[in-house]
Amino acid sequence: MPIENKTNFDSCASFFIDNGAYQGRLIRLNSVLNTILGKHCYPQPVSAVIAECTVLGTMLASMLKYDGLFTLQTQSNGVVSMVVVDVTSDGRIRACARYDQKRLEQNQSLRKTVGEIEPAPHLLGGGHLAFTVDQGNDTQLYQGIVDLQGKTLAECALRYFKQSEQIDTDLKLFLKAPEGDSQSWSAAGIMLQKMPSIGGKDTNIDQETLDENWNQAKIFMQSLSENEVFDANLTSEELLHRLFHANNLNISNCKNYNFGCRCSREKLLNTLSTFSEDDINAMVENNKITATCNFCSEQYTFDKGEVLKQ
Ligand SMILES: [Zn+2]
Repeated sequence: MPIENKTNFDSCASFFIDNGAYQGRLIRLNSVLNTILGKHCYPQPVSAVIAECTVLGTMLASMLKYDGLFTLQTQSNGVVSMVVVDVTSDGRIRACARYDQKRLEQNQSLRKTVGEIEPAPHLLGGGHLAFTVDQGNDTQLYQGIVDLQGKTLAECALRYFKQSEQIDTDLKLFLKAPEGDSQSWSAAGIMLQKMPSIGGKDTNIDQETLDENWNQAKIFMQSLSENEVFDANLTSEELLHRLFHANNLNISNCKNYNFGCRCSREKLLNTLSTFSEDDINAMVENNKITATCNFCSEQYTFDKGEVLKQ
């Protein structure tokens, strides 16, 4: 048996079922996630929140047609007060988080179940989940926002589709923490959505049949198990055939993902140049300023004069 077939991960399969009535996505992340998390030294519960937010962000980005940058961002009052996940239209992902170490330790000491992954909303607390699409200077910024309410991150996201988009959607997220010999994280998600033109308003089919079809498709989607989705020997096509072989499955596209940070010396210098002279002076050590990229931990060093000259 092969140890790990990485080609079955770090990709998104787009598909349609029931003659185009419903569209779906199946995303499975492995190496890209471990590269993202490897750039940071976050404690395991924080890594878990990032991993789940990363698969959700990738999922939401995959549903949109855009040319530029998709960003998922949480702002909240919990132990993990912020998560940012960037997904570029050419499939480069990066992510980072802000958390409170002291509160995390308190939270962990109060927990009854040790070793289990805590649902992301517990660590995020109250706040909101926002996503934006930036396609450059001349195009509009698309923005969606929803309160962080729900027992799971998937529930929070589904509230967005219900409230803002009003499109029937179902979503299931999976997360696997490093265990035993495997020091790697895996995350996955499957999503199903009614196509507004066919899934909801086909006049040849009565409402009752439409509802029945949709419920049936959701049951098939929900039947995807953690064992299956993280089985490195199964391709995404095989998984989708298992679920939807009776639903006229049509896999339309497969997209791959890589880690990618968009930071540069020039960008950080621009950011530093917006700081006041006092703030700059406070950062100077031996006439140098060192700035670290939040996303990839790359360190950039500048001369004090270079920053003040800007
Ligand atoms: Zn970077």
